[in-house]
Amino acid sequence: MQPFTLRRQKLLSALPDNSIALIASGHEQIRNRDTHYPFRPHSDFQYLTGFNEPDAVLALIKTNTMTCHLCLRPKDKEREIWDGLRLGIEAAPDALEMDSAHDINDLQSLLSEWLANKAYVFISFDESTTWIPRLLPIIQQLKRRVRQGISAPHQFSDLDKLLHEQRLIKDEAAQAGLRKAAKVTVSGHLAAMRTARSGIYEYELQASLEQTYKQLGSTHQAFSTIVAGGKNACILHYTENNQLLCNADLVLIDAGAEIDGYAGDCTNTFPISGRFSNEQGIIYDLVLAAQQAALATIKPGVNYDVPHKAAVKVIAQGLWSLGLINATSLDEIINNELYKPFYMHQTGHWLGCDVHDVGEYKINGSWRPLVEGMALTVEPGIYIAPDMQQVDVKWRGIGIRIEDSVLVTETGYECLTIGLPRTRDEIESWMQNR
Ligand code: CA
Repeated sequence: MQPFTLRRQKLLSALPDNSIALIASGHEQIRNRDTHYPFRPHSDFQYLTGFNEPDAVLALIKTNTMTCHLCLRPKDKEREIWDGLRLGIEAAPDALEMDSAHDINDLQSLLSEWLANKAYVFISFDESTTWIPRLLPIIQQLKRRVRQGISAPHQFSDLDKLLHEQRLIKDEAAQAGLRKAAKVTVSGHLAAMRTARSGIYEYELQASLEQTYKQLGSTHQAFSTIVAGGKNACILHYTENNQLLCNADLVLIDAGAEIDGYAGDCTNTFPISGRFSNEQGIIYDLVLAAQQAALATIKPGVNYDVPHKAAVKVIAQGLWSLGLINATSLDEIINNELYKPFYMHQTGHWLGCDVHDVGEYKINGSWRPLVEGMALTVEPGIYIAPDMQQVDVKWRGIGIRIEDSVLVTETGYECLTIGLPRTRDEIESWMQNR
């Protein structure tokens, strides 16, 4: 049985009786005139079907039985010559383990049939502007047939609440997908390290990294690759990647390959010359110590914010000791967030089909405890802006982030993004021997 089938069954089990859930793959989007962006289905749809075509809708129906139905594009010889092969309606039930498959052009009449005598309709509220105008007239028509003994749904519910909690805990197939994406991601980082030298442009490292992703079977980047040389690293989501790299610079690369619908996410910061300057090395060691402190806290039962607090404490203490923050106590730095000009983001995020994956971070106002099977990133950083007047000029323009992706295990965590040189010594000797 496919993992997608198991996931649909699990979701169906969580739905109340007499309900229908609708999940769309999405449409192709025009980039300019008649050219499209590469299509990538909505993650919810991909997670539940493994099917990658646009213009498809999955319907999960729960009455006294639980059934799965897919509406998709029919075979079309002419369009397939131009745009590529389609799975087609006939092949879909076997290929995707569905109870039935239908022409997407018949969706409206199918919905009239499926919504009859259901009580609840589950859709993503993020998609409600598409779904509600489509579903309400059908529901109104069903209400007019009450004397024929037909009842209409009386409640819309947000499917995200159920489905995203399910996606948050990674099943075996998701764990395997994340491991694979992480492995390719690390290979791309190593390729970029191999390419790095003074006098080339940031986008040349991007090219090495993304070439490796493609060669290893990644169809997309999980997000736009960041290659930030020197002070550009102080811009958190820098993606211009068009500046020259020079020997005195560090380069920060934050990138991830997407494979089989799973995202890799990893950040690596290293010196172009292969040797850290004194100041770069000091800040690097501090960020790495913060990351190790954060990682050390990760295990089931620990609240989500604990790794962040551990990283903040190390960074605050370190910056204070170096004289980069003026304060009378560590508590003052932490309580008044005096570290924020240097470290302004959180220490991580959920990771899965989406790089910033779905799932609540707080429950009833409190940070939720980690659970076996969750995947998250651990990514502290220190960014000393080039115009930060209050620090000595020798520190300015240093931006460092170190990021790994981890899976919460029964007793702790499994690092997914393994294989990169991480300590200062490891990086320097790797760069020397490449
Ligand atoms: Ca990242």
